[in-house]
Amino acid sequence: MLIDMDKLDIAEGANIRSDCPRCGGKNTFTATKRDGKIIYNCYKLSCDAKGKVNYGMTAEEMSSYFIKPLIETGNLNKRMEPFVYPEHIVVPGNTWYNKRYTRYINRFRMRWQGIYAETLQNIELLCDVKDKRAVFPIYQDGVLVDAIGRELDGATPKWLRYGKAAEYARYCYGQPNGVFILVEDVISAITVAKVWPGVTGFALLGTNLTDAHKECLSDDARYVIVALDPDAMRKTLVMRKEIEAWCDIPTRAIRLRDDIKYQDDEDINFLGRWINEAKRHGKQEQPNGEGFTTTQVQTTGDT
Ligand SMILES: [Zn+2]
Repeated sequence: MLIDMDKLDIAEGANIRSDCPRCGGKNTFTATKRDGKIIYNCYKLSCDAKGKVNYGMTAEEMSSYFIKPLIETGNLNKRMEPFVYPEHIVVPGNTWYNKRYTRYINRFRMRWQGIYAETLQNIELLCDVKDKRAVFPIYQDGVLVDAIGRELDGATPKWLRYGKAAEYARYCYGQPNGVFILVEDVISAITVAKVWPGVTGFALLGTNLTDAHKECLSDDARYVIVALDPDAMRKTLVMRKEIEAWCDIPTRAIRLRDDIKYQDDEDINFLGRWINEAKRHGKQEQPNGEGFTTTQVQTTGDT
């Protein structure tokens, strides 16, 4: 029996969980729609409902599509397990029991409004009501695989990863142009994506460069700019060297006055200039599609 996608009635960007239309399993069926594709799966072992269909988007979904970021993590060769939110993570809404949490989240969104970008506007956020955190979902190929929460009132650690599966989170609005900006956290990565459409904000979700990071950069980046917190300059320099050596991608380390999520005027202009430079000098794909060649980039000192 084919699954009737019309009956799923799933909106772009949404995740649903329901009884399985194939085997009738109670609440065993999940489906997600991203970029017009519906990815569905039934957790019942005896059921083979699993797949991906290109369903398309409604005109309304189309019109808002280009302001939605691509949020991705992980390595495409490695399937990650779907992540299920613990019960104390709730979707903010207007029902009586979560109005208060909606206020927390709205206040948190307001905190990151800057001159250059309303960073968290239209970004999917949930609320950890036990630990008081704003929770950012992390997807792989449209499937929720992890979530990371930022404290709302001084809890430690400042950032908490719930699923431990995601090694990075990348954000890009529109067609990615191969320029990657490496930052530490997701708010900084979203800031980059919003201020410069086409540029990928790449959050390390920590301070170390892992194999998963390097693999992703090797696959998709044409030029990398490392812009970690200003107090991590030594780390920034080491990371620049490592990326260039391992991934064979022109890489720059830059020193900002403040973390990019604070949208300091000078920082935005400075990084903007380097992004323009990167677009001109990125690693070029050869016309015959045979491998890559690196454009030599002149580096005079690292900052
Ligand atoms: Zn099923």
